[in-house]
Amino acid sequence: MPLVTSKEMLEAALEGHFAVGAFNANNMEQIQGIIDAAVEERSPVILQVSQGAINYVGLSLATAMVKTAAEEATVPVVLHLDHGASFEQNVTCLRAGFTSLMFDGSKLVYDENVRITRKIVEMSSVVGIPVEAELGKVLQSRDNVSEADVRAAMTDPDQAADFVERTGISSLAVAIGSVHAMEAAEAELDIDRLKAIRAKVNIPLVLHGSSGVKESSEVEAIQYGISKINVATMLNQAFIKGILDGYAANPANIDPRKWLALSRDGVKEVVRQKMRLFGSSGKATASGFVSPATSHRSAELGHLE
Ligand SMILES: [Zn+2]
Repeated sequence: MPLVTSKEMLEAALEGHFAVGAFNANNMEQIQGIIDAAVEERSPVILQVSQGAINYVGLSLATAMVKTAAEEATVPVVLHLDHGASFEQNVTCLRAGFTSLMFDGSKLVYDENVRITRKIVEMSSVVGIPVEAELGKVLQSRDNVSEADVRAAMTDPDQAADFVERTGISSLAVAIGSVHAMEAAEAELDIDRLKAIRAKVNIPLVLHGSSGVKESSEVEAIQYGISKINVATMLNQAFIKGILDGYAANPANIDPRKWLALSRDGVKEVVRQKMRLFGSSGKATASGFVSPATSHRSAELGHLE
């Protein structure tokens, strides 16, 4: 089916107490692995590309690959910009056909983050494309962060309420204890902080850096309003493992497809497992996704007919 936007998908997730996985792709095999997993799991899915992926693949080719894969899929797919760095980049991706945007102004001073985020929302809302923004900072593991650093960068609940009100965003990435690019799932999220944010903010919340978070903590966070969970590092690990396993089994092979197929299968397995963990498996229908609101509305329509 054609690409869909993330707005209704995340609202359905919030209402249905599940989360949609947002999986990063850097090449064709990762796109295929992610979308094949979604089709097999009957799950809605967000496929996201970062600036690094855009630099590597090229914007038009990346967009075309995801669009075509989504059209061939029988589940709803969103094409999302991960960590958009500027107003200009968001305009460029909107024009290219992305159906969900993100502006990450978390390193800016607060008022500047509000100002640029608001400007992007004003621009993209004209054509109905939702925007995610980040408040507080989800740090990078390569910067050698301490626990105190992570705590100091966490989202402030009162500021989050003000930010959502002033910017008009559709979803908010929160810093509640995860760190980007961690290679082992060891972190516990600050669920009390998440509850405090949730009490003041009623839009879907987003968890970045999930590869470093304990699965039990992720599941708990979904119950308190995390509706989109970004997964990148684990997919890259699965991809590389496919190549290494292929090489170990047959170092003389010169057909790249033999190894890349293993990578694609590895990515697919991780995505399937995450979809089951997040509760999004079985939530896609032929025309969209299972949502308490939608099923309620169709019941009412049925009654009228
Ligand atoms: Zn992130």
